[in-house]
Amino acid sequence: MTSLDSISLVLAAKKTFDTEKLDVPLRAKLLRGLAASLNVHIEALVNCADTETHLGKVRLTGEVHRTCFQLNAFADYILEGKHLRSLNQSAVAGAPPLGRPQLEITSVPLGPVVVFAASNFPFAFSVLGGDTAAALAAGCPVIVKAHPAHLELSQKVIEIAKTVLAQMSLSDGWIGMLSLPDIEAGASLVMQPDVAAVSFTGSLQGGRALAKHISQRDQPIPFFGELGSINPVLVMPGFLRQNTADIAHTLADSIVQGAGQFCTSPGLIIIEESTAADQFLAALASRLDSHSPHKMLTVSMQNSFQTLTLQALRLAGVRQLTTRNPGSSNISAGPTPTIIEVSAETFLTHPVLHEEIFGPYAVVVRISNGTAGYQELLMHLQGSLTTTFWAEKMDADAVTALLPYAMQKAGRVLFGGVPTGVAVCEAQHHSGPWPASTRPETTSVGMRAVERFLRPVALQDKPSWLN
Ligand code: NAP
Repeated sequence: MTSLDSISLVLAAKKTFDTEKLDVPLRAKLLRGLAASLNVHIEALVNCADTETHLGKVRLTGEVHRTCFQLNAFADYILEGKHLRSLNQSAVAGAPPLGRPQLEITSVPLGPVVVFAASNFPFAFSVLGGDTAAALAAGCPVIVKAHPAHLELSQKVIEIAKTVLAQMSLSDGWIGMLSLPDIEAGASLVMQPDVAAVSFTGSLQGGRALAKHISQRDQPIPFFGELGSINPVLVMPGFLRQNTADIAHTLADSIVQGAGQFCTSPGLIIIEESTAADQFLAALASRLDSHSPHKMLTVSMQNSFQTLTLQALRLAGVRQLTTRNPGSSNISAGPTPTIIEVSAETFLTHPVLHEEIFGPYAVVVRISNGTAGYQELLMHLQGSLTTTFWAEKMDADAVTALLPYAMQKAGRVLFGGVPTGVAVCEAQHHSGPWPASTRPETTSVGMRAVERFLRPVALQDKPSWLN
């Protein structure tokens, strides 16, 4: 399981890391230079991305802006020294444990980082996306495994990156790219001895396979995998009483956004039996029936969506709320938005219903026993990136009781709104317990993502004559 490309890319990155230490101002200049160059080429890049991914020019233009924002925000963050988390404790005279030497904590970059580009974010989580920006901000060279859903775009972006490196007289090894659409090539990449960390955004199966490869390395390294998530939405009774049919439209639009190809897509709706719930679900299904999403990123994703949705529909106790048959659409057209409904008992009996189906799909679970019903379901869920409460003040007691369970299961808890759309800022946490992430204590969105690629070092009794 070796590939000459993998070997040479990693060797170039390692040589660069060993011989060309980038100080913080230079790293910031590189990040800003990459952002500026993406911006200059925005039109050509968006056209290429749209042809390859079908995600639409409006969404893709927004994604380039977000990508530039991320690159610039990491530059600001490291220039302010926030990535170092530095702490300096002076010496204390006397015997230990009270007495101690002077100690200062700082951090150093890990080394070459392999970044698996995401299929569904051709800019924001691909060649110059958040993982690459975070690794460069940390001072780590990057080797990107391009995603086969947008190889032509990836080629254009890496050429832009190489030009920026050349203009700054920096080594080519700072940003490399492997563009073989082949899982063996990716596996070979993560096995290279000089790789210091791997970040990944993709499927549970892909993440699991890569984690297994990495566990077989002689030298262990961290694997930051962002995988599957069903993102439960808890619709509370008080909220339903106070709001109109618009809220069903808001949820439906979030389910179909980007043809449902978001890791934060709401895939589970938990709601208590009531006439208001009946009306809400009817409005939700009707809105979804009126949507015709664009084609999915690849034909195999579309096939997989169709197969998994039909499998769910065949389970005993499953009722479809939308009216169109997800199996009847032309495979090269967009997916058919589908929501199914089950009782809490059926949901708890079939673990397959707890798994994400990538695309415009959600499961509705009706409960009949109030807060205890919500709690029981939350306790049985796997980890998710998000949990959303749709609640009003009159739901306060229930939400107060449920919040610890929601926080146990998710990396981000929302009080209102929809989980699609992830703000890029210091207080963001985009992660969650397995299978949302392999490292729930770290985030892949927001400035703290840089910490994944840094290692703390304590300096003891550092002399004053050292700079
Ligand atoms: P993916 O299949 O996990 O692929 C992501 C990257 O990982 C690709 O570059 C792929 O290599 C690589 N990879 C996958 N399996 C591998 C293995 N066994 N060994 C080494 N490398 C491996 O994710 P995806 O392409 O985004 O989605 C594919 C399927 O996953 C779809 O059917 C989708 O429904 C489902 N899914 C995706 C997401 C998501 O957030 N993207 C979430 C849930 C489900 P290649 O480049 O060689 O293909």
